[in-house]
Amino acid sequence: MFHRFTIGTMTATIVSDGPLLLHAPEKIFVGPGPAALGASLTASGLQADRIRVEQNCLLLETAGKKVLFDNGMGSEKLYGPDSGRLLDSLREAGVAPSEIDAMVLTHGHSDHCWGTMSDDGTPNFPNATLYLSQAELDFWTSAASEPRMTRSSAGVRKHILPLRDRIQIIRDEEEFLPGVHALATPGHTPGHLAFLFDGGWCLTGDVAFHDPLSYSFPDAESVYDTDRDLGLRTRRRLLDRLVADRLSIIGYHHPWPGLGRLESTGGTFRFIPERGG
Ligand SMILES: [Zn+2]
Repeated sequence: MFHRFTIGTMTATIVSDGPLLLHAPEKIFVGPGPAALGASLTASGLQADRIRVEQNCLLLETAGKKVLFDNGMGSEKLYGPDSGRLLDSLREAGVAPSEIDAMVLTHGHSDHCWGTMSDDGTPNFPNATLYLSQAELDFWTSAASEPRMTRSSAGVRKHILPLRDRIQIIRDEEEFLPGVHALATPGHTPGHLAFLFDGGWCLTGDVAFHDPLSYSFPDAESVYDTDRDLGLRTRRRLLDRLVADRLSIIGYHHPWPGLGRLESTGGTFRFIPERGG
């Protein structure tokens, strides 16, 4: 499944890795309570007992290069049977894995980077340079992260470290590819990056991962954040900026294809879906 649109002068394509079935909403969002969370989900036409999210990977063509932002779950089925479709979606979009010049990671969680290596230990994208932040690489590969983050740490060791020779470290606010700027957004993970694109778009990663719950309850703690307090401060700051700067949004986990913009509704926010230009 793919959806093509434009970001400024660049061709963009959302390629799906398929949906994930997560826990009950009150097991993820701390504070609002089951009734309020359920009402918000129901009002958006979503099931209220479990959280189901998409994985909308961005393929961007800039300066003659094909750049893939995050790459889904790979063959692992931690969150249901329907993930792992990225390579199929790329094929549908007419793109071969060998054509990908760069892979950019928002962060090191399973659903964002476990499509990096195939099961036989070879890279799924054999010609791609791998971009991520130093803080993210350090966090998942340091001894300190081992006791409580075994699965993600093991995933980074399996998917990222074999490619250490082709890693490019991204710095905050750096234009590391033409028209693509990094924005440090720590909290969900220590080295999480959002990306700002020339043409007025922002790829938000998992700073505010759920539409509508991350927007209706921006101050609810998320159990998925490694630093919950920093996570909600970063979320507030980014959401305020998205509204103030009228940026269009690419939401990785938002309802397909995840494109839209944000309205402020007096302390909370509302995501307005769009199809992109
Ligand atoms: Zn995620």
